[in-house]
Amino acid sequence: MSLFARLAFLMLCTVIPAFALASVAVAGSECPAVDANDTQARNSLMYYVCYHQSSPGEPAHTALNPAELPEHIKWTPSQGHELVFSQTRSVYWIRLNIRNNGSERRLWYLNLHYPLLDEVTFWRGDQPEDVLVTGDQHRFGSRLVDYRYFLLPITLNSGETRSITIRIHSSGALNIPLKLETPEEVIAESNHLAVTHGLFYGAILVLAIFNLLLFFSSGTTYYFYNALYMVAMGLFLFAMGGFANQYFWPENPKFANTSIPLTLALCALAMTFFGRSFLEVAAHTRADKTLKAILWICAGFTGLTLAIPYSQAILINTALGLVIIFILSIIAISRWQQGYQPAKWYVLAWAIMAVGALVYAAAAFGYLADFLARESLMQVAIGGQVILLNYAMVQRWRLLNDKLLEVEQKARNDLEYKVHERTAQLRSTMRELENANRKLATLSLNDSLTGLYNRRHMDNILPDLCAEARRTGRPLTIALLDADHFKAVNDTWGHGFGDTWLQLIADILTRHATRPRDTAVRFGGEEFALLLPSTDLEGAQKVCEAVLEEIRTTSVEAPGGAKARLTMSAGIATLLPNENQQEFFERADSALYEAKAQGRNQTVIADT
Ligand code: GH3
Ligand code: MG
Ligand code: MG
Repeated sequence: MSLFARLAFLMLCTVIPAFALASVAVAGSECPAVDANDTQARNSLMYYVCYHQSSPGEPAHTALNPAELPEHIKWTPSQGHELVFSQTRSVYWIRLNIRNNGSERRLWYLNLHYPLLDEVTFWRGDQPEDVLVTGDQHRFGSRLVDYRYFLLPITLNSGETRSITIRIHSSGALNIPLKLETPEEVIAESNHLAVTHGLFYGAILVLAIFNLLLFFSSGTTYYFYNALYMVAMGLFLFAMGGFANQYFWPENPKFANTSIPLTLALCALAMTFFGRSFLEVAAHTRADKTLKAILWICAGFTGLTLAIPYSQAILINTALGLVIIFILSIIAISRWQQGYQPAKWYVLAWAIMAVGALVYAAAAFGYLADFLARESLMQVAIGGQVILLNYAMVQRWRLLNDKLLEVEQKARNDLEYKVHERTAQLRSTMRELENANRKLATLSLNDSLTGLYNRRHMDNILPDLCAEARRTGRPLTIALLDADHFKAVNDTWGHGFGDTWLQLIADILTRHATRPRDTAVRFGGEEFALLLPSTDLEGAQKVCEAVLEEIRTTSVEAPGGAKARLTMSAGIATLLPNENQQEFFERADSALYEAKAQGRNQTVIADT
């Protein structure tokens, strides 16, 4: 705010002389002649200028040339002040007497460096026909010199004094800044201004194109609105500076006038669009509704500007611009307070813009005299604003980029965590699967009632055992054992008791199959086998006898308290050379059959 206060003070300093001007008007004496050869005198030209303001209805208002002016017209000396008048419908007559005190005939230019005057008529002497009618109500070609300001060439003979009369009629605020310059001075001034203006408009154009390219490549709309704003603002200043009249529409003086409020309305439209998009104003909020309403008003004013007179159009569009700047600043400050960082730069840009707008408004209402200073001030303000707005966009881009990186990092972390989790899950599942497989393998090779190996295991290992025996020449013996009259056990004491017996038999077999490679198998209901590698018939017979003996002597308490006893029969065979596995097994089975047939409870050795 302190910046703002300082600028307001600066404005006041500029405005006060303009007010002072009104109070110094005194009844006319003859205007003194300025010596055109005296640089110092030329630099204080406003001490030599007189003017006459005529309101509508007065004779001087309707007079079309100096000859028609009333005889005793009151000329007011301007006493060194700039001629600045706010909104006025008066006609201004200016009088300047110029004298060549030098010894040579020379050329000077009277430079009226305010390009926005509607009607300017110069008379270079007493001859009513020596006249130049120009102003931006006329084609640009009506000017004697191709220049954005009005230049009147004046050639004076040595010792000659010429009385220059100017009649000015214009709508809106009026500035009549006058300079008397040598051709060299005009050229030098034009050169210097060409450089600064070239830089300013060039920079605006390049930034606008750059923003357009950003819009086309990213699809982000606020780049487009920013480009639009810069083009509209550039055009507005271009028109205000008289360049547009000179270069864009020299043949169309009517549009030259309209172009100023029109580009101003476009600026208002573009800056509202840009602010709404850049500040990410949430839909359906009060701010959003206000901005939408403003957009409609802007659109309406743009249309209206084409229909109403310049002086009204410039007033309503200036007021609209100021209102929009005010509203956008409030929204931006509230967005900044909400923590939206790019809004900070936007607010700063708008603060600078407000200075530019105040300078412009002061000029529009006729309170700022120095046209060049005002043009430079506005260019500095707009330039600063454009740079800050672009910087705000860079900040916003950075913010988005940071957010994107954050999301990416989070996604990567999440993914890593998930991979870890899944890998752990997979490992534990695999471990469970392995355990299950192991259990399944055990289950499929073991008999669930007794825990002995089952038929499948016997079928698996018997071919290997046979092959091994043949290869090594060591004996392989198999004993098949079957419980005698087991059906009767079941029938007498029940199936459960039968199972207990089967488990008891398994225990006894396991205990007697003492060598590491001896294998006890339950291969049928009450049918068992002992696979005895490296064991001959004799050894196997001993084992079988011992088993049969233990069974024979074991008694189990049956349900009801009776002592139950059991016997078993066995058939033994040793693998013969050239005998296959099936023949080998069948021989043992035949021996078992033999043992049953011979009365059970005994061991029979198979025939060889
Ligand atoms: P043999 O002396 O001729 O061998 O007569 P046996 O009754 O033992 O022979 P058989 O083949 O006629 O009957 C075998 C019986 O074994 C039939 C069935 O009741 C019994 N058995 C088979 N498997 C099981 C089992 O898992 N549990 C029980 N409790 N009994 C079984
Ligand atoms: Mg049987
Ligand atoms: Mg049996």
